[in-house]
Amino acid sequence: MTRSISILGATGSVGASTLDLIRRERDQWHVAALTANCSAAELARLAIEFDAETAIVGDESCLADLREALSGTGIKAAGGARALCDAAARPVDITVAAIVGCAGLAPVMAAIEQGGTIALANKEALVSAGDVMIAAVAKHGAVLLPVDSEHNAIFQCLQGNNIADVRWITLTASGGPFREWTQAQLDAATPKQAVAHPNWDMGAKISVDSATMMNKGLEFIEAHHLFPVGLDRLRIVVHPQSVIHSMVEYRDGSTLAQLGPSDMKVPIASCLAWPKRMETGCAPLDLPAIGTLQFCAPDEGRFPATRLARDAVHAGGAAPATLNAANEVAVAAFLSGQIGFTQIAAIVAQTLDGSIGSAPASLDEVLDVDAAARQRAQEILELL
Ligand code: NDP
Repeated sequence: MTRSISILGATGSVGASTLDLIRRERDQWHVAALTANCSAAELARLAIEFDAETAIVGDESCLADLREALSGTGIKAAGGARALCDAAARPVDITVAAIVGCAGLAPVMAAIEQGGTIALANKEALVSAGDVMIAAVAKHGAVLLPVDSEHNAIFQCLQGNNIADVRWITLTASGGPFREWTQAQLDAATPKQAVAHPNWDMGAKISVDSATMMNKGLEFIEAHHLFPVGLDRLRIVVHPQSVIHSMVEYRDGSTLAQLGPSDMKVPIASCLAWPKRMETGCAPLDLPAIGTLQFCAPDEGRFPATRLARDAVHAGGAAPATLNAANEVAVAAFLSGQIGFTQIAAIVAQTLDGSIGSAPASLDEVLDVDAAARQRAQEILELL
């Protein structure tokens, strides 16, 4: 039986892994919509290969290029924020939400309001919208399947169990490329060094987040919303080999863990096939070759981002959305060479120092908080 799929952020790293999986089962999938921001040529190439119904660029100024690249193919082209939400609202069997940043929030909410099944990679959307998104999922009967490898691991470890029996959820963290760097080395870290992750091949923004450990901070908040065991039952452990993707310990002392290769195709496949399984083409885990699994506590002196995220989710209100927006601004400034690596967390901390409003109660209010925090972070940046 053919299943239909839309992929938001099809030209990115998660989008590419998703399409690799679809390629393996080409006759079983119908591709409804593929989206990008401005990579018009690449989007058109993918839309033609996968015989998509429609291709959408978020940046309307790139629509002319997309139209030209698709002319004569019969594939519809559209552009702009409204078109992205329209694409996300198409009734399909599964929508993969893989836009990076809060830019993906409105499309994710459009997919949720349709009551569909959403494979969520776009963690920034959930961190920013938090309860607003979770309430919309419940209201519209949507299903959120976590793509993030840690949350997908937890999701798998919870199957067949009662969440009330959970003693701990442990998010594992690789520690990133700078795990063993001194403070002085961190101060001088370059964008090129930050995006060279030792275990995972990912987009630039999440690679920098992994280097600062903000990725784990965002994931802590994401886990809080997806798995409501209470903040005091969530913890982070550094595990440099990235073999165990996360663990759940139950009150009887049993700990269930999910292990697998460091390849996003594994958690994405788990979502695409859920509740069944599918082939990924990934090499089997070779534990004798791996040999040793190590664990240690995070060093929040050198990597304060996890503390900032934990404090933000404990503070509640607009703090998580503010943290995320400030981080997006600071990471972009780091990648463009405007600020140093350790200034990323400093800018986030300073943005959170201002007065933080109450919890946003709707999508529009989340977007307002996001815009105000971006402006505040930008002002802080300009004073540096
Ligand atoms: P990439 O940077 O590789 O890709 C991002 C995608 O989003 C691209 O298709 C890009 O289009 C599109 N995009 C960027 N900005 C906008 C915008 N303003 N409006 C519409 N579309 C936009 O990111 P990743 O694939 O690495 O990450 C995607 C999400 O998945 C992130 O939230 C990340 O945290 C999460 N994630 C990623 C993992 C990974 O291994 N990469 C692992 C776990 C989670 P264009 O090509 O035109 O710029």
